[in-house]
Amino acid sequence: MRPSSLVVVANRLPLDDNIAPDGACEWRRSPGGLASALHAILQQTPATWVGWSGAIGPSPKLPSIGSLRLRPVALTEQEQSGYYEGFANSTLWPLYHDAVQQPVFQREWWETYRAVNQRFAEAAAEVAGRHAAVWVQDYHLQLVPQMLRELRPDLLIGFFMHVPFPPPELFMQLPRRIELLVGMLGADLVGFQREQAGHNLAQLAQKLLGAEATDDAITVGGRTVRTGAFPVSIDVAEMRALAARPDVVGQARQLRHDLGESKRILLSVDRLDYTKGIEHRLTAYRELLRDGHVKVRDTVLVQVAVPSREGVDSYRDLRDRIEGEVGRINGEYGRVGEPAIHYLNQRFDRALLAALYQVADVMVVTPLRDGMNLVAKEFVAAREDESGALVLSEFAGAAAELSAAFLVNPHDLDDLKQTLLRAMEADPADLSARMRAMRAHLAEHDIMAWARAYLTALDHTGRLARRLPRTG
Ligand code: UDP
Repeated sequence: MRPSSLVVVANRLPLDDNIAPDGACEWRRSPGGLASALHAILQQTPATWVGWSGAIGPSPKLPSIGSLRLRPVALTEQEQSGYYEGFANSTLWPLYHDAVQQPVFQREWWETYRAVNQRFAEAAAEVAGRHAAVWVQDYHLQLVPQMLRELRPDLLIGFFMHVPFPPPELFMQLPRRIELLVGMLGADLVGFQREQAGHNLAQLAQKLLGAEATDDAITVGGRTVRTGAFPVSIDVAEMRALAARPDVVGQARQLRHDLGESKRILLSVDRLDYTKGIEHRLTAYRELLRDGHVKVRDTVLVQVAVPSREGVDSYRDLRDRIEGEVGRINGEYGRVGEPAIHYLNQRFDRALLAALYQVADVMVVTPLRDGMNLVAKEFVAAREDESGALVLSEFAGAAAELSAAFLVNPHDLDDLKQTLLRAMEADPADLSARMRAMRAHLAEHDIMAWARAYLTALDHTGRLARRLPRTG
């Protein structure tokens, strides 16, 4: 294999498996994310993506995607449970999200997490050309930057944390806090969604490693690691094109008809995760129905809750609680043929999501903590008509950019109820002014702009970023 000058290392390969009508499994590039952002650069640069295919056991045979080569990392069932469901998603994930759910620490998970990170680092070291840039993604692979530096000191190493990076009080709870910190500081540039995270990292590096640190540079062991905020985004052009497709417009019309032509539609789209604030939202909605501020005959809530991490106990318990509450609300307030809430525990394709975004009068995005929240940005991108209200949690990374949304503290039930009512009753001229401001911001800050900003900061020579197209 020819060595690559750009290597992306992420937990998952940028693929969706798709079962063809004849039962065969086909692979296709997953839309929207990092892979589309890097599409242009990947055409011109010998590049490899290192990641797990999502299948347990030996890696399936995978095609290249255009000029992008795929280097699968195999995981056994025990590794998937200790590294992915265990340390990544039961220890780090809750801790990094304000510990809204109690993190679980199990000593044996750590060894698996470390061993799997080592395997990813070795795979990256094997495919990277001399002085290549390697871009490591997210909390699953926090040890990889330092491991890779030890294997290949010639490389330019970037690390991007897609989830929040917590304040020292929380991070200090981690039994392996020093190793995790040293792991990410193996990078030349550590990128975050929000500036506060750089401040948190600086404080931790001072406290735990005696480093010299400011909010944008940390010097430890004679080496300086730069840090910075690079808020991730979506492929705006792709979402706009999807929303304008005749079949999607037709689907939106049908959905509007099915939900009730004259009804006010509230929409939420989340992975079924305790960070998304679904329970708080349902409580607020139940109280609005109880107080008579919302009536089933003229308003309906559509809640999409995509199945997620079903191997983890806390996710199964959450699903039971949410489904119990939806059942109670529909039982108490629904009418024949008119539920208070349409609850969909399914994953939808992007075309259906684009149609749903277009029929929503109020998009309700109220996570308790979220690195970014792409759904909020997708909703804005889909609203060519410049109408519709966005209710957005202050605790989503997106709130730093979409300040024209109806911002809300989802922990405050009264604030949540009042903000929902304000958004439902807002003046259309006010809504379109807000929507225009948010769309103008997104047009300039799409996923291409994000990748370009990060890669320019990583690679001062501009060699990589020059190959990315302009936004829009
Ligand atoms: N999504 C999807 N199908 C669904 C629901 C969501 O493809 O039925 C996509 C959605 O379009 C978005 C992503 O899943 O791109 C969710 O990203 P977000 O940042 O909002 O939350 P995360 O799941 O990463 O925590």
